[in-house]
Amino acid sequence: MAAIGEDRRKVVVVGAGWAGLGATYHLAKQGYEVTLLEAGPYPGGLVAGWQTAGGRSVEAGIHGFWYPYRNIFSLTDELKIQPFTPWTQSSQYSPHGLEVESPLFQAMPYLPSPLGTFLYTRFQRLPLVDRLSALPLLYAVVDFDNSPEAWQRYDAITARELFKQYGVSARLYKESFEPMLLVGLFAPGEQCSAAAALGMLYYFILAHQPDFDVRWCRGTVGEQIFRPWVQQIEQAGGRILANHRVTNVVEGAENQITAVVCGDETFEADAVIFAVGIAGMQKIAASSPALRRRSEFRNLSNLGAVDVLATRLWFDRKVHITHPSNACFGFHPTTGWTFFDLNALHDEYRDEPGSVIEVDFYHANQLLNLDDEELIPLVQRDLAGCIPAFRQAQVVDAGVVRLPRAVSHFAPGSYRYLLPGTTPFKNVFMSGDWIDTRHGSWSQEKAYVTGLEAANQVITTLGLGQPASILPIIPDEPHIQLARGVNRGVRSLLEQSLPAFWLP
Ligand SMILES: Cc1cc2nc3c(=O)[nH]c(=O)nc-3n(C[C@H](O)[C@H](O)[C@H](O)COP(=O)(O)OP(=O)(O)OC[C@H]3O[C@@H](n4cnc5c(N)ncnc54)[C@H](O)[C@@H]3O)c2cc1C
Repeated sequence: MAAIGEDRRKVVVVGAGWAGLGATYHLAKQGYEVTLLEAGPYPGGLVAGWQTAGGRSVEAGIHGFWYPYRNIFSLTDELKIQPFTPWTQSSQYSPHGLEVESPLFQAMPYLPSPLGTFLYTRFQRLPLVDRLSALPLLYAVVDFDNSPEAWQRYDAITARELFKQYGVSARLYKESFEPMLLVGLFAPGEQCSAAAALGMLYYFILAHQPDFDVRWCRGTVGEQIFRPWVQQIEQAGGRILANHRVTNVVEGAENQITAVVCGDETFEADAVIFAVGIAGMQKIAASSPALRRRSEFRNLSNLGAVDVLATRLWFDRKVHITHPSNACFGFHPTTGWTFFDLNALHDEYRDEPGSVIEVDFYHANQLLNLDDEELIPLVQRDLAGCIPAFRQAQVVDAGVVRLPRAVSHFAPGSYRYLLPGTTPFKNVFMSGDWIDTRHGSWSQEKAYVTGLEAANQVITTLGLGQPASILPIIPDEPHIQLARGVNRGVRSLLEQSLPAFWLP
Protein backbone atom coordinates (compact mmCIF):
# COMPACT_ATOMS: atom_id res chain seq x y z
CA MET A 1 0.00 0.00 0.00
CA ALA A 2 1.38 3.46 -0.91
CA ALA A 3 2.00 5.58 2.19
CA ILE A 4 0.77 9.13 1.95
CA GLY A 5 1.55 9.89 5.59
CA GLU A 6 0.41 13.23 6.93
CA ASP A 7 -1.05 14.24 3.60
CA ARG A 8 -3.94 11.77 3.55
CA ARG A 9 -6.59 13.10 1.21
CA LYS A 10 -10.27 12.47 1.90
CA VAL A 11 -12.44 10.90 -0.77
CA VAL A 12 -16.15 10.24 -0.38
CA VAL A 13 -17.64 7.57 -2.64
CA VAL A 14 -21.45 7.39 -2.89
CA GLY A 15 -23.03 3.98 -3.60
CA ALA A 16 -21.61 0.53 -2.82
CA GLY A 17 -22.25 -1.46 -6.02
CA TRP A 18 -19.50 -2.70 -8.34
CA ALA A 19 -18.54 0.87 -9.29
CA GLY A 20 -18.33 2.29 -5.76
CA LEU A 21 -16.55 -0.72 -4.29
CA GLY A 22 -14.08 -0.72 -7.20
CA ALA A 23 -13.21 2.95 -6.69
CA THR A 24 -13.02 2.59 -2.90
CA TYR A 25 -10.75 -0.45 -3.01
CA HIS A 26 -8.25 1.12 -5.36
CA LEU A 27 -8.11 4.48 -3.57
CA ALA A 28 -7.85 2.85 -0.13
CA LYS A 29 -4.90 0.78 -1.43
CA GLN A 30 -3.26 4.04 -2.56
CA GLY A 31 -3.48 5.44 0.97
CA TYR A 32 -6.46 7.78 0.56
CA GLU A 33 -8.88 8.18 3.45
CA VAL A 34 -11.96 6.80 1.70
CA THR A 35 -15.50 6.79 3.10
CA LEU A 36 -18.08 4.83 1.11
CA LEU A 37 -21.66 5.89 1.85
CA GLU A 38 -24.36 3.36 0.95
CA ALA A 39 -28.09 4.03 1.29
CA GLY A 40 -29.04 0.35 1.66
CA PRO A 41 -28.39 -1.99 4.58
CA TYR A 42 -25.67 -3.99 2.72
CA PRO A 43 -22.97 -3.29 0.14
CA GLY A 44 -23.49 -4.81 -3.30
CA GLY A 45 -26.06 -2.55 -4.96
CA LEU A 46 -28.05 -4.44 -7.58
CA VAL A 47 -25.97 -7.51 -6.85
CA ALA A 48 -26.56 -7.55 -3.09
CA GLY A 49 -27.63 -10.81 -1.46
CA TRP A 50 -29.03 -11.52 1.97
CA GLN A 51 -30.78 -14.19 4.07
CA THR A 52 -34.55 -14.33 4.59
CA ALA A 53 -35.98 -14.57 8.12
CA GLY A 54 -36.14 -18.33 7.51
CA GLY A 55 -32.39 -18.45 6.74
CA ARG A 56 -32.74 -18.85 2.94
CA SER A 57 -30.26 -17.01 0.69
CA VAL A 58 -31.86 -14.61 -1.78
CA GLU A 59 -30.43 -11.90 -4.01
CA ALA A 60 -31.44 -9.15 -6.40
CA GLY A 61 -31.40 -11.46 -9.44
CA ILE A 62 -28.85 -13.97 -10.66
CA HIS A 63 -25.78 -12.43 -12.25
CA GLY A 64 -23.71 -13.96 -15.03
CA PHE A 65 -20.03 -13.23 -15.68
CA TRP A 66 -19.33 -13.35 -19.39
CA TYR A 67 -16.07 -14.29 -21.07
CA PRO A 68 -14.98 -10.67 -21.74
CA TYR A 69 -15.25 -9.63 -18.04
CA ARG A 70 -11.44 -9.45 -17.81
CA ASN A 71 -11.23 -6.81 -15.10
CA ILE A 72 -13.62 -8.60 -12.75
CA PHE A 73 -11.75 -11.89 -13.27
CA SER A 74 -8.49 -10.11 -12.57
CA LEU A 75 -9.98 -8.68 -9.35
CA THR A 76 -11.09 -12.10 -8.08
CA ASP A 77 -7.57 -13.42 -8.82
CA GLU A 78 -6.10 -10.51 -6.84
CA LEU A 79 -8.50 -11.23 -3.94
CA LYS A 80 -7.40 -14.89 -4.16
CA ILE A 81 -10.98 -16.16 -4.26
CA GLN A 82 -12.57 -18.73 -6.57
CA PRO A 83 -16.23 -17.68 -6.62
CA PHE A 84 -17.21 -18.97 -10.06
CA THR A 85 -18.77 -22.12 -11.50
CA PRO A 86 -17.15 -23.62 -14.61
CA TRP A 87 -18.29 -22.08 -17.92
CA THR A 88 -21.86 -23.18 -18.60
CA GLN A 89 -24.02 -23.84 -21.65
CA SER A 90 -27.42 -22.17 -21.94
CA SER A 91 -30.79 -22.71 -23.62
CA GLN A 92 -33.71 -20.65 -24.83
CA TYR A 93 -37.34 -21.68 -24.42
CA SER A 94 -40.66 -20.46 -25.84
CA PRO A 95 -44.18 -21.76 -25.12
CA HIS A 96 -43.36 -24.38 -27.82
CA GLY A 97 -40.52 -25.78 -25.69
CA LEU A 98 -36.77 -25.78 -26.30
CA GLU A 99 -35.80 -23.35 -29.10
CA VAL A 100 -32.03 -22.84 -28.94
CA GLU A 101 -29.01 -24.46 -27.31
CA SER A 102 -25.69 -22.64 -27.14
CA PRO A 103 -22.54 -24.75 -26.96
CA LEU A 104 -19.42 -23.76 -25.05
CA PHE A 105 -18.05 -21.58 -27.81
CA GLN A 106 -14.48 -21.65 -26.47
CA ALA A 107 -14.47 -25.45 -26.84
CA MET A 108 -15.35 -25.29 -30.56
CA PRO A 109 -12.79 -24.76 -33.37
CA TYR A 110 -12.16 -21.00 -33.54
CA LEU A 111 -13.73 -19.25 -36.52
CA PRO A 112 -13.51 -15.58 -37.49
CA SER A 113 -16.30 -13.60 -35.84
CA PRO A 114 -19.29 -13.87 -36.22
CA LEU A 115 -19.11 -17.22 -38.07
CA GLY A 116 -18.76 -19.33 -34.92
CA THR A 117 -21.79 -17.74 -33.28
CA PHE A 118 -23.78 -18.26 -36.48
CA LEU A 119 -22.73 -21.86 -37.18
CA TYR A 120 -22.41 -23.39 -33.72
CA THR A 121 -25.64 -22.08 -32.13
CA ARG A 122 -28.17 -24.93 -32.33
CA PHE A 123 -31.59 -23.58 -33.36
CA GLN A 124 -34.36 -26.20 -33.04
CA ARG A 125 -37.00 -24.46 -35.14
CA LEU A 126 -35.81 -21.14 -36.61
CA PRO A 127 -35.40 -21.67 -40.40
CA LEU A 128 -32.04 -20.91 -42.05
CA VAL A 129 -33.59 -18.22 -44.25
CA ASP A 130 -34.57 -16.24 -41.13
CA ARG A 131 -31.07 -16.57 -39.68
CA LEU A 132 -29.54 -15.42 -42.97
CA SER A 133 -31.69 -12.27 -42.88
CA ALA A 134 -29.29 -10.96 -40.19
CA LEU A 135 -26.41 -10.68 -42.66
CA PRO A 136 -27.02 -7.08 -43.88
CA LEU A 137 -27.02 -5.98 -40.22
CA LEU A 138 -23.28 -6.69 -40.16
CA TYR A 139 -22.73 -3.32 -41.82
CA ALA A 140 -24.27 -1.54 -38.79
CA VAL A 141 -22.15 -3.72 -36.48
CA VAL A 142 -19.01 -2.54 -38.30
CA ASP A 143 -20.20 1.07 -38.49
CA PHE A 144 -20.97 1.25 -34.74
CA ASP A 145 -17.47 1.52 -33.24
CA ASN A 146 -18.49 2.85 -29.79
CA SER A 147 -17.23 6.36 -30.67
CA PRO A 148 -19.33 9.35 -29.54
CA GLU A 149 -20.19 9.97 -33.23
CA ALA A 150 -21.45 6.39 -33.64
CA TRP A 151 -23.58 6.74 -30.50
CA GLN A 152 -25.06 9.98 -31.83
CA ARG A 153 -25.78 8.37 -35.22
CA TYR A 154 -27.61 5.33 -33.89
CA ASP A 155 -29.06 6.56 -30.58
CA ALA A 156 -31.89 8.51 -32.21
CA ILE A 157 -33.60 5.37 -33.55
CA THR A 158 -35.02 2.34 -31.82
CA ALA A 159 -33.42 -1.09 -32.06
CA ARG A 160 -36.58 -2.36 -33.75
CA GLU A 161 -36.31 0.33 -36.46
CA LEU A 162 -32.66 -0.60 -36.99
CA PHE A 163 -33.46 -4.29 -37.47
CA LYS A 164 -36.34 -3.40 -39.81
CA GLN A 165 -34.13 -1.04 -41.88
CA TYR A 166 -31.59 -3.82 -42.38
CA GLY A 167 -34.18 -6.38 -43.47
CA VAL A 168 -34.17 -8.70 -40.43
CA SER A 169 -37.08 -11.18 -40.70
CA ALA A 170 -40.04 -10.81 -38.34
CA ARG A 171 -39.37 -14.26 -36.94
CA LEU A 172 -35.65 -13.69 -36.32
CA TYR A 173 -36.49 -10.44 -34.56
CA LYS A 174 -39.21 -11.98 -32.36
CA GLU A 175 -37.35 -15.20 -31.56
CA SER A 176 -33.78 -14.02 -31.29
CA PHE A 177 -33.06 -10.30 -31.22
CA GLU A 178 -35.94 -9.15 -29.04
CA PRO A 179 -35.30 -11.79 -26.33
CA MET A 180 -31.63 -10.73 -26.31
CA LEU A 181 -32.63 -7.08 -25.87
CA LEU A 182 -35.03 -7.91 -23.05
CA VAL A 183 -32.34 -9.85 -21.21
CA GLY A 184 -29.35 -7.65 -22.14
CA LEU A 185 -30.88 -4.16 -22.03
CA PHE A 186 -33.99 -4.95 -19.96
CA ALA A 187 -36.45 -3.44 -22.47
CA PRO A 188 -38.27 -4.43 -25.67
CA GLY A 189 -36.77 -3.37 -29.02
CA GLU A 190 -39.12 -0.44 -29.59
CA GLN A 191 -37.91 1.04 -26.29
CA CYS A 192 -34.15 0.47 -26.76
CA SER A 193 -31.65 2.79 -28.40
CA ALA A 194 -30.21 1.19 -31.55
CA ALA A 195 -26.76 2.37 -30.40
CA ALA A 196 -27.07 0.54 -27.09
CA ALA A 197 -28.38 -2.56 -28.90
CA LEU A 198 -25.38 -2.65 -31.26
CA GLY A 199 -22.90 -2.01 -28.44
CA MET A 200 -24.40 -4.68 -26.21
CA LEU A 201 -24.76 -7.34 -28.94
CA TYR A 202 -21.19 -6.78 -30.15
CA TYR A 203 -19.69 -6.96 -26.66
CA PHE A 204 -21.57 -10.05 -25.43
CA ILE A 205 -22.01 -12.06 -28.60
CA LEU A 206 -20.38 -10.94 -31.82
CA ALA A 207 -16.89 -9.57 -31.19
CA HIS A 208 -15.14 -12.92 -30.57
CA GLN A 209 -16.40 -16.49 -30.67
CA PRO A 210 -16.15 -17.25 -26.92
CA ASP A 211 -17.73 -13.94 -25.77
CA PHE A 212 -21.15 -15.52 -25.12
CA ASP A 213 -19.68 -18.12 -22.73
CA VAL A 214 -20.77 -17.37 -19.19
CA ARG A 215 -20.14 -18.51 -15.64
CA TRP A 216 -22.00 -17.82 -12.43
CA CYS A 217 -21.21 -17.52 -8.75
CA ARG A 218 -21.23 -20.72 -6.69
CA GLY A 219 -23.58 -18.93 -4.24
CA THR A 220 -24.86 -15.38 -3.97
CA VAL A 221 -22.45 -12.78 -5.39
CA GLY A 222 -22.77 -11.07 -2.01
CA GLU A 223 -21.35 -14.10 -0.18
CA GLN A 224 -18.87 -15.22 -2.80
CA ILE A 225 -17.35 -11.90 -3.91
CA PHE A 226 -18.54 -8.88 -1.93
CA ARG A 227 -18.02 -10.29 1.57
CA PRO A 228 -14.31 -11.14 1.05
CA TRP A 229 -13.84 -7.96 -1.00
CA VAL A 230 -15.33 -5.73 1.71
CA GLN A 231 -13.00 -7.37 4.26
CA GLN A 232 -9.99 -6.51 2.09
CA ILE A 233 -11.27 -2.96 1.52
CA GLU A 234 -11.54 -2.49 5.29
CA GLN A 235 -8.08 -4.00 5.81
CA ALA A 236 -6.74 -1.44 3.31
CA GLY A 237 -8.28 1.33 5.46
CA GLY A 238 -11.53 1.98 3.53
CA ARG A 239 -14.59 2.80 5.65
CA ILE A 240 -17.98 1.51 4.44
CA LEU A 241 -21.05 3.05 6.06
CA ALA A 242 -24.36 1.30 5.24
CA ASN A 243 -27.75 2.97 5.83
CA HIS A 244 -26.26 6.32 4.78
CA ARG A 245 -28.35 7.97 2.07
CA VAL A 246 -26.67 11.01 0.51
CA THR A 247 -28.99 13.96 -0.09
CA ASN A 248 -26.77 16.94 -0.84
CA VAL A 249 -23.26 18.27 -1.41
CA VAL A 250 -21.55 21.43 -0.11
CA GLU A 251 -20.11 23.69 -2.79
CA GLY A 252 -16.87 25.57 -2.10
CA ALA A 253 -14.85 28.02 -4.14
CA GLU A 254 -13.59 27.42 -7.69
CA ASN A 255 -16.12 24.85 -8.80
CA GLN A 256 -15.24 22.34 -6.11
CA ILE A 257 -17.35 20.29 -3.72
CA THR A 258 -16.02 20.36 -0.17
CA ALA A 259 -18.39 17.95 1.59
CA VAL A 260 -21.15 15.38 1.12
CA VAL A 261 -24.33 15.59 3.19
CA CYS A 262 -26.14 12.55 4.50
CA GLY A 263 -29.15 13.44 6.65
CA ASP A 264 -27.71 15.47 9.52
CA GLU A 265 -24.13 14.23 8.99
CA THR A 266 -21.57 15.98 6.79
CA PHE A 267 -18.49 14.24 5.36
CA GLU A 268 -15.61 16.48 4.25
CA ALA A 269 -14.10 15.59 0.90
CA ASP A 270 -11.15 16.55 -1.28
CA ALA A 271 -12.83 14.56 -4.05
CA VAL A 272 -16.21 12.86 -4.54
CA ILE A 273 -17.17 9.87 -6.68
CA PHE A 274 -20.83 9.19 -7.42
CA ALA A 275 -21.44 5.49 -8.03
CA VAL A 276 -25.23 5.32 -7.85
CA GLY A 277 -27.72 4.16 -10.47
CA ILE A 278 -29.81 6.52 -12.61
CA ALA A 279 -32.82 6.66 -10.26
CA GLY A 280 -30.59 7.30 -7.22
CA MET A 281 -28.62 10.03 -8.99
CA GLN A 282 -31.84 11.74 -10.12
CA LYS A 283 -32.97 11.92 -6.48
CA ILE A 284 -29.64 13.33 -5.25
CA ALA A 285 -29.59 15.93 -8.05
CA ALA A 286 -33.17 16.94 -7.30
CA SER A 287 -32.51 17.48 -3.59
CA SER A 288 -29.15 19.23 -3.99
CA PRO A 289 -29.17 22.94 -4.97
CA ALA A 290 -25.46 22.84 -5.97
CA LEU A 291 -26.07 19.94 -8.36
CA ARG A 292 -29.41 21.00 -9.79
CA ARG A 293 -27.98 24.42 -10.72
CA ARG A 294 -25.82 22.59 -13.33
CA SER A 295 -27.73 21.59 -16.45
CA GLU A 296 -25.80 18.28 -16.69
CA PHE A 297 -27.32 17.10 -13.39
CA ARG A 298 -30.70 18.74 -13.96
CA ASN A 299 -31.01 16.98 -17.31
CA LEU A 300 -30.66 13.57 -15.69
CA SER A 301 -34.41 13.71 -15.18
CA ASN A 302 -34.68 12.89 -18.91
CA LEU A 303 -33.27 9.40 -18.27
CA GLY A 304 -35.26 6.33 -17.30
CA ALA A 305 -34.87 3.14 -15.29
CA VAL A 306 -36.56 -0.24 -15.66
CA ASP A 307 -38.40 -2.44 -13.13
CA VAL A 308 -37.18 -5.97 -12.52
CA LEU A 309 -38.42 -8.81 -10.36
CA ALA A 310 -36.36 -11.66 -8.90
CA THR A 311 -38.07 -14.77 -7.52
CA ARG A 312 -36.62 -17.92 -6.01
CA LEU A 313 -38.76 -21.07 -5.72
CA TRP A 314 -38.07 -24.17 -3.63
CA PHE A 315 -39.90 -27.25 -4.99
CA ASP A 316 -40.76 -30.52 -3.25
CA ARG A 317 -38.99 -32.63 -5.90
CA LYS A 318 -36.16 -32.53 -8.39
CA VAL A 319 -37.14 -31.55 -11.91
CA HIS A 320 -34.57 -32.30 -14.62
CA ILE A 321 -33.28 -29.18 -16.46
CA THR A 322 -30.82 -29.67 -19.30
CA HIS A 323 -28.74 -26.51 -18.85
CA PRO A 324 -28.39 -24.36 -15.71
CA SER A 325 -29.21 -21.02 -17.37
CA ASN A 326 -32.17 -20.42 -19.63
CA ALA A 327 -33.75 -17.41 -21.32
CA CYS A 328 -37.40 -17.42 -22.39
CA PHE A 329 -39.44 -15.56 -25.00
CA GLY A 330 -43.00 -15.49 -26.31
CA PHE A 331 -44.67 -15.65 -22.88
CA HIS A 332 -45.26 -11.92 -22.27
CA PRO A 333 -45.31 -9.22 -24.96
CA THR A 334 -42.88 -6.79 -23.29
CA THR A 335 -41.29 -8.76 -20.46
CA GLY A 336 -38.28 -11.04 -20.77
CA TRP A 337 -37.41 -13.70 -18.24
CA THR A 338 -34.75 -16.20 -17.36
CA PHE A 339 -34.60 -19.22 -15.08
CA PHE A 340 -31.64 -20.85 -13.39
CA ASP A 341 -31.12 -24.29 -11.90
CA LEU A 342 -29.54 -23.36 -8.58
CA ASN A 343 -28.98 -27.03 -7.65
CA ALA A 344 -26.45 -27.03 -10.50
CA LEU A 345 -24.98 -23.57 -9.81
CA HIS A 346 -24.94 -22.97 -6.05
CA ASP A 347 -22.90 -25.20 -3.74
CA GLU A 348 -25.47 -24.91 -0.94
CA TYR A 349 -28.27 -26.45 -3.07
CA ARG A 350 -26.30 -29.28 -4.68
CA ASP A 351 -27.68 -31.91 -2.27
CA GLU A 352 -31.10 -30.30 -1.74
CA PRO A 353 -33.85 -32.93 -2.21
CA GLY A 354 -36.01 -30.61 -4.36
CA SER A 355 -35.27 -28.20 -7.20
CA VAL A 356 -34.31 -24.63 -6.27
CA ILE A 357 -35.06 -22.36 -9.21
CA GLU A 358 -34.40 -18.65 -9.65
CA VAL A 359 -36.81 -16.94 -12.06
CA ASP A 360 -36.02 -13.32 -12.94
CA PHE A 361 -38.29 -11.01 -14.96
CA TYR A 362 -36.99 -7.93 -16.79
CA HIS A 363 -39.17 -4.97 -17.76
CA ALA A 364 -41.55 -6.39 -15.20
CA ASN A 365 -43.63 -3.30 -14.40
CA GLN A 366 -46.96 -5.08 -14.73
CA LEU A 367 -45.88 -7.78 -12.25
CA LEU A 368 -44.48 -5.64 -9.42
CA ASN A 369 -47.81 -4.84 -7.78
CA LEU A 370 -48.91 -8.46 -7.44
CA ASP A 371 -48.53 -9.90 -3.97
CA ASP A 372 -46.54 -13.10 -3.47
CA GLU A 373 -49.62 -15.34 -3.40
CA GLU A 374 -50.74 -13.97 -6.77
CA LEU A 375 -47.29 -14.00 -8.28
CA ILE A 376 -45.90 -17.44 -7.43
CA PRO A 377 -48.57 -19.43 -9.36
CA LEU A 378 -47.88 -17.25 -12.42
CA VAL A 379 -44.16 -17.93 -12.12
CA GLN A 380 -44.80 -21.67 -11.78
CA ARG A 381 -47.11 -21.59 -14.82
CA ASP A 382 -44.41 -19.92 -16.94
CA LEU A 383 -41.83 -22.47 -15.78
CA ALA A 384 -44.19 -25.32 -16.65
CA GLY A 385 -44.61 -23.72 -20.10
CA CYS A 386 -40.91 -24.51 -20.67
CA ILE A 387 -40.53 -27.74 -18.70
CA PRO A 388 -43.92 -29.47 -18.17
CA ALA A 389 -42.73 -31.45 -15.08
CA PHE A 390 -42.91 -28.20 -13.07
CA ARG A 391 -46.71 -28.42 -13.32
CA GLN A 392 -46.86 -31.40 -10.89
CA ALA A 393 -44.18 -30.11 -8.48
CA GLN A 394 -45.28 -28.26 -5.33
CA VAL A 395 -43.73 -24.96 -4.30
CA VAL A 396 -42.68 -25.39 -0.65
CA ASP A 397 -41.07 -21.96 -0.17
CA ALA A 398 -40.45 -18.82 -2.21
CA GLY A 399 -38.56 -15.55 -2.01
CA VAL A 400 -39.60 -12.48 -4.00
CA VAL A 401 -37.41 -9.39 -4.52
CA ARG A 402 -39.12 -6.42 -6.20
CA LEU A 403 -36.76 -3.92 -7.80
CA PRO A 404 -38.66 -0.86 -9.04
CA ARG A 405 -36.70 1.51 -11.34
CA ALA A 406 -33.60 -0.56 -10.72
CA VAL A 407 -31.70 -0.97 -13.97
CA SER A 408 -30.50 1.60 -16.51
CA HIS A 409 -32.84 2.20 -19.44
CA PHE A 410 -30.90 2.91 -22.62
CA ALA A 411 -33.90 4.49 -24.33
CA PRO A 412 -33.68 6.08 -27.79
CA GLY A 413 -32.45 9.65 -27.41
CA SER A 414 -30.95 9.05 -23.96
CA TYR A 415 -27.28 9.21 -25.00
CA ARG A 416 -27.06 13.00 -24.88
CA TYR A 417 -28.04 12.92 -21.18
CA LEU A 418 -25.68 10.18 -20.01
CA LEU A 419 -22.87 11.77 -17.99
CA PRO A 420 -19.22 11.19 -18.78
CA GLY A 421 -16.77 10.37 -15.95
CA THR A 422 -15.98 14.04 -15.40
CA THR A 423 -18.46 16.71 -14.28
CA PRO A 424 -18.65 20.53 -14.16
CA PHE A 425 -17.02 20.24 -10.70
CA LYS A 426 -13.23 19.84 -10.78
CA ASN A 427 -13.20 17.26 -7.99
CA VAL A 428 -16.42 15.27 -8.65
CA PHE A 429 -16.41 12.15 -10.83
CA MET A 430 -19.10 9.77 -12.06
CA SER A 431 -19.15 5.98 -12.33
CA GLY A 432 -21.68 3.19 -12.85
CA ASP A 433 -23.06 1.05 -15.64
CA TRP A 434 -24.84 4.01 -17.32
CA ILE A 435 -21.86 6.36 -17.65
CA ASP A 436 -20.62 7.35 -21.12
CA THR A 437 -17.18 5.74 -21.45
CA ARG A 438 -15.04 4.57 -24.36
CA HIS A 439 -14.03 1.27 -22.70
CA GLY A 440 -16.74 -0.72 -24.50
CA SER A 441 -17.80 -3.10 -21.69
CA TRP A 442 -21.34 -3.49 -20.30
CA SER A 443 -23.20 -4.27 -17.06
CA GLN A 444 -21.18 -5.42 -14.05
CA GLU A 445 -17.84 -5.22 -15.89
CA LYS A 446 -18.64 -1.69 -17.06
CA ALA A 447 -19.69 -0.62 -13.56
CA TYR A 448 -16.42 -1.95 -12.11
CA VAL A 449 -14.31 -0.41 -14.90
CA THR A 450 -15.95 3.02 -14.53
CA GLY A 451 -15.29 2.83 -10.77
CA LEU A 452 -11.59 2.33 -11.53
CA GLU A 453 -11.69 5.13 -14.13
CA ALA A 454 -13.17 7.48 -11.52
CA ALA A 455 -10.48 6.44 -9.01
CA ASN A 456 -7.86 7.28 -11.65
CA GLN A 457 -9.45 10.72 -12.19
CA VAL A 458 -9.11 11.35 -8.44
CA ILE A 459 -5.45 10.28 -8.58
CA THR A 460 -4.79 12.62 -11.50
CA THR A 461 -6.59 15.50 -9.76
CA LEU A 462 -5.12 15.09 -6.29
CA GLY A 463 -1.75 13.90 -7.57
CA LEU A 464 -1.16 11.08 -5.11
CA GLY A 465 -0.80 7.34 -5.70
CA GLN A 466 -0.63 5.05 -8.74
CA PRO A 467 -3.53 4.73 -11.19
CA ALA A 468 -5.36 1.40 -11.41
CA SER A 469 -4.42 -0.60 -14.48
CA ILE A 470 -7.58 -1.23 -16.48
CA LEU A 471 -7.58 -4.06 -19.02
CA PRO A 472 -9.02 -2.90 -22.35
CA ILE A 473 -11.63 -5.04 -24.06
CA ILE A 474 -10.16 -7.78 -26.26
CA PRO A 475 -9.23 -6.03 -29.55
CA ASP A 476 -11.40 -6.41 -32.65
CA GLU A 477 -10.42 -9.31 -34.89
CA PRO A 478 -8.22 -8.24 -37.88
CA HIS A 479 -11.01 -8.44 -40.48
CA ILE A 480 -13.27 -6.27 -38.29
CA GLN A 481 -10.42 -3.76 -37.79
CA LEU A 482 -9.93 -3.66 -41.56
CA ALA A 483 -13.66 -3.24 -42.27
CA ARG A 484 -13.92 -0.48 -39.64
CA GLY A 485 -10.86 1.32 -41.06
CA VAL A 486 -12.27 1.27 -44.61
CA ASN A 487 -15.70 2.36 -43.38
CA ARG A 488 -14.25 5.28 -41.42
CA GLY A 489 -12.27 6.41 -44.49
CA VAL A 490 -15.34 6.29 -46.76
CA ARG A 491 -17.48 8.00 -44.15
CA SER A 492 -15.03 10.86 -43.67
CA LEU A 493 -14.69 11.33 -47.47
CA LEU A 494 -18.48 11.54 -47.78
CA GLU A 495 -18.73 13.94 -44.85
CA GLN A 496 -16.13 16.22 -46.42
CA SER A 497 -17.78 16.23 -49.84
CA LEU A 498 -21.51 16.39 -48.94
CA PRO A 499 -23.26 19.32 -47.20
CA ALA A 500 -24.50 18.62 -43.65
CA PHE A 501 -28.07 19.01 -44.86
CA TRP A 502 -29.74 15.67 -44.06
CA LEU A 503 -30.63 14.21 -40.71
CA PRO A 504 -27.70 12.05 -39.54
C1 LIG B 1 -32.23 -8.88 -12.01
C2 LIG B 1 -30.92 -8.36 -12.56
C3 LIG B 1 -30.13 -9.21 -13.31
C4 LIG B 1 -28.91 -8.76 -13.83
N1 LIG B 1 -28.13 -9.64 -14.50
C5 LIG B 1 -26.88 -9.30 -14.83
C6 LIG B 1 -25.98 -10.27 -15.33
O1 LIG B 1 -26.33 -11.43 -15.50
N2 LIG B 1 -24.70 -9.88 -15.62
C7 LIG B 1 -24.29 -8.58 -15.46
O2 LIG B 1 -23.12 -8.27 -15.71
N3 LIG B 1 -25.13 -7.63 -14.98
C8 LIG B 1 -26.41 -7.96 -14.65
N4 LIG B 1 -27.26 -7.02 -14.13
C9 LIG B 1 -26.82 -5.61 -14.12
C10 LIG B 1 -25.87 -5.34 -12.95
O3 LIG B 1 -26.51 -5.67 -11.76
C11 LIG B 1 -25.50 -3.85 -12.95
O4 LIG B 1 -24.95 -3.50 -14.21
C12 LIG B 1 -24.45 -3.50 -11.90
O5 LIG B 1 -24.71 -4.17 -10.69
C13 LIG B 1 -24.47 -1.99 -11.69
O6 LIG B 1 -23.54 -1.66 -10.68
P1 LIG B 1 -23.37 -0.14 -10.22
O7 LIG B 1 -22.28 -0.10 -9.25
O8 LIG B 1 -23.27 0.71 -11.44
O9 LIG B 1 -24.76 0.29 -9.56
P2 LIG B 1 -25.68 -0.34 -8.43
O10 LIG B 1 -25.43 -1.79 -8.27
O11 LIG B 1 -27.07 0.11 -8.75
O12 LIG B 1 -25.18 0.36 -7.09
C14 LIG B 1 -25.56 1.67 -6.76
C15 LIG B 1 -25.61 1.78 -5.25
O13 LIG B 1 -25.90 3.14 -4.90
C16 LIG B 1 -26.73 3.13 -3.77
N5 LIG B 1 -27.40 4.45 -3.66
C17 LIG B 1 -28.41 4.93 -4.43
N6 LIG B 1 -28.75 6.18 -4.02
C18 LIG B 1 -27.92 6.48 -2.99
C19 LIG B 1 -27.77 7.62 -2.14
N7 LIG B 1 -28.54 8.69 -2.28
N8 LIG B 1 -26.83 7.58 -1.16
C20 LIG B 1 -26.03 6.49 -1.00
N9 LIG B 1 -26.14 5.38 -1.77
C21 LIG B 1 -27.06 5.38 -2.75
C22 LIG B 1 -27.69 1.99 -4.02
O14 LIG B 1 -28.31 1.55 -2.82
C23 LIG B 1 -26.74 0.95 -4.61
O15 LIG B 1 -26.19 0.13 -3.62
C24 LIG B 1 -28.49 -7.42 -13.62
C25 LIG B 1 -29.30 -6.56 -12.87
C26 LIG B 1 -30.49 -7.03 -12.32
C27 LIG B 1 -31.31 -6.10 -11.47
